[in-house]
Amino acid sequence: MVDLDTIVSLCKRRGFIFQSSEIYGGTGSCWDYGPLGVELKSNIKRVWWRDSVQLRPDMVGLDASILMHPTVWKASGHLDHFTDPMVDCKACHRRFRADKLDEGEWVHYCPATKGNKFMVPDGEPCKHCSARRTLCPSCGKGNLTEARQFNLMFKTFMGPVEDDAAVTYLRPETAQGIFVNFDNVLQSMRLKLPFGVAQIGKAFRNEITPGNFTFRTREFEQMEIEYFVMPGTDEEWHQQWIDERFAWYQKYGIRKENIRLREHAKDELAFYAKRCVDIEYLFPMGWSELEGIANRTDYDLKRHSEFSGKALEYFDEESKQKVIPYVIEPSGGVDRSALAFLVDAYHQEEVRGEKRVVLRLHPELAPIKIAVLPLLKKNSRIVETARRICADLRKHWVSVYDDTASIGRLYRRQDEIGTPFCVTVDVQTVGDADAPGDEKVTIRERDSMEQVRVSVSTLRETIAQLMAGNWAEVATQLPHPEMGEG
Ligand code: ATP
Repeated sequence: MVDLDTIVSLCKRRGFIFQSSEIYGGTGSCWDYGPLGVELKSNIKRVWWRDSVQLRPDMVGLDASILMHPTVWKASGHLDHFTDPMVDCKACHRRFRADKLDEGEWVHYCPATKGNKFMVPDGEPCKHCSARRTLCPSCGKGNLTEARQFNLMFKTFMGPVEDDAAVTYLRPETAQGIFVNFDNVLQSMRLKLPFGVAQIGKAFRNEITPGNFTFRTREFEQMEIEYFVMPGTDEEWHQQWIDERFAWYQKYGIRKENIRLREHAKDELAFYAKRCVDIEYLFPMGWSELEGIANRTDYDLKRHSEFSGKALEYFDEESKQKVIPYVIEPSGGVDRSALAFLVDAYHQEEVRGEKRVVLRLHPELAPIKIAVLPLLKKNSRIVETARRICADLRKHWVSVYDDTASIGRLYRRQDEIGTPFCVTVDVQTVGDADAPGDEKVTIRERDSMEQVRVSVSTLRETIAQLMAGNWAEVATQLPHPEMGEG
């Protein structure tokens, strides 16, 4: 398993993810997606939206605003309950989430070794004196305060007057935007139960201990579905969504040994939830939540009805009765998905005695789909042809042209960012004084490094087939040139 530092460094070096405001020393827990990161993230959102909304007759989309009426958060329970237990160090004044105190290594001045300083691994006792951590894990000296509840919502003021009446919050989840629009969506779209509303958007949580790169940040993006069902059918639908979402990650490349389901214990369930199952991924720091799928019952619609005075109901034609639907909520994070896809795709291998780093990203997720590479950059006909091919491919897929190194180096660069196909143009393509060109180019596949030769005139068609995941099939029908990796 790759470690997180390797992924962080690849992300920075190759333009996936940078630390926010780095030139000012960075901000804790905020990250900026660079040119390749933004493509990866938008590909994840695009395939999620396509699979969750566009391909389903029972789903519609929504894009609600981040700032909402402050009563939303009273009704939803976030003002009173959206808290984590926090402790402070009395010496260094750092703050920690009380329930995660033993999830990181801790500083220990060991009395058995004349007070020498050690870093002790997560949750373990000191090897020398067997003591367990009781003091601050960061400075190793201060006592910790009693835990108190800390609300994770970011408070802000709406409008120019900073008084209590203007207080509002940045949304800590996108879900509430769906609940408060339940009736708007139902009436405008004439929907019948069961139906779902999907939304992708930013959410903000003032996490006490952010960390592990983009895994836990204070600003992040969620992909959420609220799926409304008839009460009584909720358990079945819940299971269906668990299965569906579990399969979705694997469809886009997550290996099945690295993903699992975790049922919430009764005492861990949110007070309104009937059942909740997390999809967990084996991140470098251990199994951690990628997505939560909860049966939220009719809690949210009931509460918003109560606080707004507006009925949020569904008229059931069959029984001629009004019902308050139950809701199943698959709630995933875009940033955590992107991190899991990157970690899972990362491979290091040896090819002819040299190290090769390759991101085996699913072609639909890869930031760049095709790199067009001229074999000789001094040959103007090769360069012109390569540029023309790239301009044509660019109309259909994210494609780049690169001639800044030898072919072997160019391949490695594309492997490291997960580009599934490289197209090379050589002397044989364009011909020379002795022989006319064959108007064919080589396509090289990232994972197998296999190559096939195709006509420029059918290149677009062939690439479309390859994007659909048919390399083996296409490759058996085309000639394989005798070409090395340069
Ligand atoms: P955790 O237990 O890790 O704090 P949570 O159970 O509070 O997560 P949910 O409220 O279920 O998370 O949010 C749904 C999804 O939103 C999570 O599965 C995760 O993918 C994403 N998410 C939540 N908090 C963060 C965060 N601070 N940074 C990045 N993604 C997050």
